[in-house]
Amino acid sequence: MHVADDVIAAVATAAGAASLAVVRVSGAGALDVADGIFRGSSPLAGVAANTMHHGWAVWPRTGGGAGPEGGGPERLDEVVAAVFRAPHSYTREDVVEFSCHGGRLPAQRVLAALLHAGARLARPGEFTLRAFLNGRLDLVQAEAVADLIQAETRAAQDLALSQLAGDLSRRLDALSERLIDALAEVEARVDFAEDVGGIEVPERVIDALGGAAADLGGLLEGAAYARAVREGVRVVMAGRPNVGKSSLFNALLGQERAIVTAVPGTTRDLVSERLEVAGVSVTLVDTAGWREGGDAVEAIGVERARAAAEESYVALWVLDRSAPLEDEDRAIAARLAGRRVLVALNKSDREARLAPASVAALAGVAAHQAIEVSAVTGAGLDALRAALAGVLGAADGGPSLAATVANPRHVEALERARAALERAAGAAREGLPGEIVALEVRESLACIGEVSGRVLGADLLDRIFGRFCVGK
Ligand code: GDP
Repeated sequence: MHVADDVIAAVATAAGAASLAVVRVSGAGALDVADGIFRGSSPLAGVAANTMHHGWAVWPRTGGGAGPEGGGPERLDEVVAAVFRAPHSYTREDVVEFSCHGGRLPAQRVLAALLHAGARLARPGEFTLRAFLNGRLDLVQAEAVADLIQAETRAAQDLALSQLAGDLSRRLDALSERLIDALAEVEARVDFAEDVGGIEVPERVIDALGGAAADLGGLLEGAAYARAVREGVRVVMAGRPNVGKSSLFNALLGQERAIVTAVPGTTRDLVSERLEVAGVSVTLVDTAGWREGGDAVEAIGVERARAAAEESYVALWVLDRSAPLEDEDRAIAARLAGRRVLVALNKSDREARLAPASVAALAGVAAHQAIEVSAVTGAGLDALRAALAGVLGAADGGPSLAATVANPRHVEALERARAALERAAGAAREGLPGEIVALEVRESLACIGEVSGRVLGADLLDRIFGRFCVGK
């Protein structure tokens, strides 16, 4: 992929009624294209950088002819043009941002005029792609821009801001520097064995490799939670009819949402709501009763419930603590085996008739916590939320989100980097030839480079920037 030199344009703000809408133009020649549609006190090509100019956006003259009515050019909107000059702009290219009146039409007409005047419609994320290709942002920062736009909780926004500010990039750069030093030592031994006194990798280099692998491990430690913060998770409620799933769903949300009745199997469909637990956007899904049999409509509900539970991050399995276990409970336990399950022992306001040991003995759920709650009195709800936070990886307030790895692409690359480093340290310890150690260290550096974007193929870039909205 090469740095493009054409002029791109797009509406940068969301469609819909608003006070302002912004149309952005970027590229060498952006000022000339902008002048094609702008009538102000002076042409934008001559104005100073970082200045704003009031004027009118008009349909561009083509072939020197007059406007459509034979009079002056057709007016499109009254605008303010902000002028940025390379390299001091978002893309590091010449950029003009037209602030138009809000609503769909003014910005769309200004955009159409710019396209007529020689700009090309930007692809999703293309402004940020140019910022990356022109070296203003590294890839971690560029991806953080998309995360920032999509963040649904404050923690998710803080995480994106930390990556935009370069916290993760700096840690990875520092790590790469150490690895390059180690690599230089190893390669010096390979190339000039006589001068440096042998080909064996010295102990301190082995330690450095091991230390770097451990640092990567530390970065990856908070990854599960950071990913949950970044992407949000689905928590599906499981449990036989009438154990109090809908009641608990409402209690957790603090509002009446699902239909609660004393008739088994009445929540026929999936009902989902969003809540926040430890900074994670949790989509809580209440499902139709998990009852075998029943009518056809109910059977569809049961099927959807099972499918939903399979797709979810955690299943919140609700049991009625005031009744003994039923075969249906056991059947559900069997289906949940091997999944992340949190157990809520509901109706704790009533006399207990369910021995905790009998729940713990159920296949597949033994390792998970069981929390006593009452959807009716609200007792135990805080403990249930805390336990859910723990399952999400946020126990004790969660690991610090500064410089953690949240993006699955980063996690995957850094795991490969760590594995290569461990192989490098292992090979060095066994006294294998320096070439092998060097090869693994290089592999590790390449993996880290993928994260910052220093070694990336064009297809991967397209995939990454394709998630952006147009105009960003
Ligand atoms: P679902 O079929 O699992 O969704 O169960 P519902 O939420 O519809 O509740 C079934 C019945 O149990 C209703 O009569 C609820 O009022 C009652 N119930 C739910 N939770 C509790 C609880 O914590 N304590 C008591 N005493 N009753 C509850």
